[in-house]
Amino acid sequence: MSRVMEQDVMMHGTLSRRGAIKILAALFLGPLLARQATAASLSAPPPEPGMVLKRLQKWECTNEECEPYVYDPSVGDLNVRDLDRPIPPGVAFEDLPDDWICPICNDPKRDFEPIGDWVEVWVKA
Ligand SMILES: [Zn+2]
Repeated sequence: MSRVMEQDVMMHGTLSRRGAIKILAALFLGPLLARQATAASLSAPPPEPGMVLKRLQKWECTNEECEPYVYDPSVGDLNVRDLDRPIPPGVAFEDLPDDWICPICNDPKRDFEPIGDWVEVWVKA
């Protein structure tokens, strides 16, 4: 209870109409404001200065014998051809090395298709 509410209750002995409105407002607005704060923190500042939020598409391997594998740019990937240099999160499928291959079936990039499923990921600008 806030100080204002307590004063209202004490001054009038019984709960005044105004006091009741204030309490109701606090009860309903409290959770509302809390929810707004949560929504605001989702569009929070970047984890590191100079980073930008990128919206990238997932791509799927079209080889029928594949799982199929889906490249998720918010996760990155192994780099089968160069395991010492894995693909970090935030690399668009288009920006993968030309010799990148499907880690499941070894198909080349040209056998992938965008699947219309988008992810958001912070990347260095
Ligand atoms: Zn594949």
